Amino acid sequence: MARAGEVVAGCLEMMKQHCRPGVTTAELDEKAERFIRKHNGTPTFKGYRGFPASICASPNGMVVHGIPGPYALKDGDIISLDVGVTLDGWVGDGAVTVAAGEPGQLALRLMEVTQASLMRAIAKCVPGNHLGDVSHAVEEYVEANGFAVVRTLVGHGIGRNMHEDPQIPNFGMAGEGPLLKEGMVFAIEPMVNAGTHRVVVGEDKWAISTADGSLSAHFEHTVALIENRPRILTLAKEQEAPGLGTALPLW
Ligand code: MG
Repeated sequence: MARAGEVVAGCLEMMKQHCRPGVTTAELDEKAERFIRKHNGTPTFKGYRGFPASICASPNGMVVHGIPGPYALKDGDIISLDVGVTLDGWVGDGAVTVAAGEPGQLALRLMEVTQASLMRAIAKCVPGNHLGDVSHAVEEYVEANGFAVVRTLVGHGIGRNMHEDPQIPNFGMAGEGPLLKEGMVFAIEPMVNAGTHRVVVGEDKWAISTADGSLSAHFEHTVALIENRPRILTLAKEQEAPGLGTALPLW
């Protein structure tokens, strides 16, 4: 899983470099697929329940599951990029939201808060905690910062399949839910809206957008509970995990 996660991390880093005004989401998808296959992976999303592409590309008010296409990034856009990689039968899943050109203050803060909420959730991924501790960490931080957690979409267990039990909501009660144990692996993925938490499904039946058109951000890591601590499997080697000290990728 660490090797699959490494390809996810590399692919997201590569796409970040290409997120400039004028680039289309279809071009990002094409580059992602080439990257994944070059690293001996297969794009997990492609064909998943009929999804036609290797990445989800969701700009601005789109929350998740955007189908790549002719949309060209504009200066100041933010875009959520989500990618899954299967390698030797194991899956890694990760997402980032990045800006093309110069984002506005609100967009910057939304991205910072969403990423920080993910790191806070990951810090709770230690044996002996409950799943509710992970969920609650996201909700508490996001709401303290005046944003809203999407409630109808959740993170998930991950392993041989992309979506395994348990579901991991981004809201919940601390101390409740399943007990976390050594060896569990989770895809934790806060989806955070600047306005209402409510979302709507697009005409293509895939794209999910904020109901009020407000901006949305999405960050995701695949995290393993190993040796009594969280190890982020989808963190690029040169990246840091803010506030997590030694919980860095060791692969
Ligand atoms: Mg996921």
